Parts: sequence; C-alpha cells; structure tokens
Amino acid sequence: MSNVEMTRFAVMEAERVVKIHIRKLPELKADEVLIKNGACNICTTDYGQWTGARKNLLFPMAWGHEFAGTVVDMGAEVKGFEVGEMVGIGYDNCGECEFCKKGLTSECVLIGAGRNKVSEDGYHGGFGCSEYVIKPYRALFKLSQDMDCSEAAFVEPVGTVCQGIRKLRLTPGEKVVVIGAGTMGILNAMVARAEGCDVLITEMMAKKLKVAEDLGLHVVDVSKEDPVEAVMKWTNGKGADSVILAVGVTAANDQALAMVKKYHAKILMFAAGYPAPELHVDSNLIHYRKMELIGTFSADKCDFARAAELMREKKIDLSRLVEAKFPLDEVDKAFEAAVLPGAYRVSVIF
Ligand SMILES: [Zn+2]
Ligand SMILES: [Zn+2]
Repeated sequence: MSNVEMTRFAVMEAERVVKIHIRKLPELKADEVLIKNGACNICTTDYGQWTGARKNLLFPMAWGHEFAGTVVDMGAEVKGFEVGEMVGIGYDNCGECEFCKKGLTSECVLIGAGRNKVSEDGYHGGFGCSEYVIKPYRALFKLSQDMDCSEAAFVEPVGTVCQGIRKLRLTPGEKVVVIGAGTMGILNAMVARAEGCDVLITEMMAKKLKVAEDLGLHVVDVSKEDPVEAVMKWTNGKGADSVILAVGVTAANDQALAMVKKYHAKILMFAAGYPAPELHVDSNLIHYRKMELIGTFSADKCDFARAAELMREKKIDLSRLVEAKFPLDEVDKAFEAAVLPGAYRVSVIF
C-alpha cells in the first residue's frame, strides 16, 4: 500500500488560464492502478481549448491524456503489472460492454461524455496532468524502464496512428504519402515505415522539413515543388498506393485525390480540420477506380498494444518530437511554448 493521498494537478480554469490545484486522490478500486506520473504532453486538443479554438470543451478542465509514469500501487484484481514498472496510458474502458467485448474499447460506454465528463469534485477531463493518477489496469500498456518519460507519453498519439495504419491495411513495399509533417504526420510516416512501406512526406515549414529529413524520410517541400508532380515523379507516373492526410484542409484533400494511383488507391482521413474541410470527389470516380476513402479516429486496445510494442522495440524515433520540457509549476509557460508555430509536443514533467 502506498501512502500517497493528495496530488497536485494542472487545471484549465478558463481560456489562457492554467493553474495548479490540489485534490485528494479517490480510493483505489480493485481493478485500478496508482501511477506516479513522469510526463504529460500537451496535445493539439489541449492547447486548442487554451486558445479558445475548441469551444466544445468545458471548464474547469483537468486536461491531459498523453502521459506515462511508474506503477506505485494497485488493487487486488489488477493483472499483469508490477510496482515500479513504466506504463503508458490508453483510454479507460470497462472491459464488459458490447463494444469492449469486440475489442472496440474506444467506443466503450464509459467514453460517452469524452473529455467533458465530470468528476465528483467537479472537474472535467481525465486528470492526465497530475503528479499521481489512478487508472483501470485495462487502460495501461507496458513500456521499457529506460525510456524518457516525455517520449513514453506518446503511447496515446502513436496508438491513434496505429489504428489508422491498421485500417489502411498497408503491405510492405507500398508507396505511402503523408501530407503534413506535424507531430501526427511524422508519427504516421514512422509507423508506416516500420510496417515496411516506402514513405514520402510533404510539408512547407522549413523546421518540420528538417526534422522529417533528419528522420530519413523522403521529403517534398511544397513551397518549392508541386506535391502532386513530385509524387508522380517518385512513383514513375503511377501515383501513390496510399495517402495519409495528417492535415485537415480542403487543399490537402484535393492533393490526395490527385496523387493516388489509378486503381485500388486508399486515402486515410487521419486529421480533423476546423473549419471542416471539403472533399471534392465524384462518387463515380470512387466506383470505377475502386478507390477507398477511410476514416480513423482514436485508438482501440490492440492499437495501444501495437504502439507500446513499436516503442519498446525502438522501431520509431520519438526524440525529435519532444519540443521542450517544463516542470508542473511552469505549466503556463508550457502552454505558451506549445502554441508557437511549428512546435512539436511540449511536455510537462513531474
Ligand atoms: Zn492527443
Ligand atoms: Zn466497455
């Protein structure tokens, strides 16, 4: 038994106001694990609420869903974990509802209210940016002890990428284009490459192009070169087998449709865009060209497991995606850094 009772955690009280609050930890249930947090990264959704771009999220928000830490204590029914182990966190799931039974844990009945669900003490969110966090063991995934905590906190975003890649049914040797070299674009490119695909990524910001290049990806600078022409050249005029849209804008949708191969092409809608992007496609084209337009969002248990496996085996290099680290006491500075143009993940460390 641990004697941890209280925890400090970050709360978004209003737009551009993040404060540290203290709460008593709820009692550990039989299927739950107490985790000493190592790092919590600021996701686009989080800083979107901070800037006011995502008005659908409510205050006070005990934000944070990209985090990882060490097991401190556990309930009697917890299986497969040990005290002292480093774990990454997926989504809460009951393990019993009709969705969980099919493996669709991202559709679990517990997830209904999403990030707006309210705790007994009146906070929205999942308390990911806390010194100590309690999670059901079903939401945890083993990582390696030597991992940097800010990198370990990538289990959630990498999990969402693994769902998309699973739905795309990539086969080794496929030529895959990723549009956009932000955090999610780079992650998509690295996971597709880990699956044995030949990957090209398009981007216009110099800083992101440099990171993509340093990671050994084929890079097209769209400020200098037309991406559709570049992809046609790269594929000897055939077009890409698959395109992953890691930016949510109409122009990217148009490019994807123009750069895929003639038959059996697949396009993955990975990113959301605000305002909602348009898709200009004639359904006859999808029919005659046997094209697949695939949607993906969030991650199921098997996707988090795959993400943790790729991370443990060091099949993806996350080091370049940690932009900066700030201690919990400087969480407001962390948000200011997270919204700078071209920033990768900013990490709050404990
Ligand atoms: Zn996220
Ligand atoms: Zn469930």
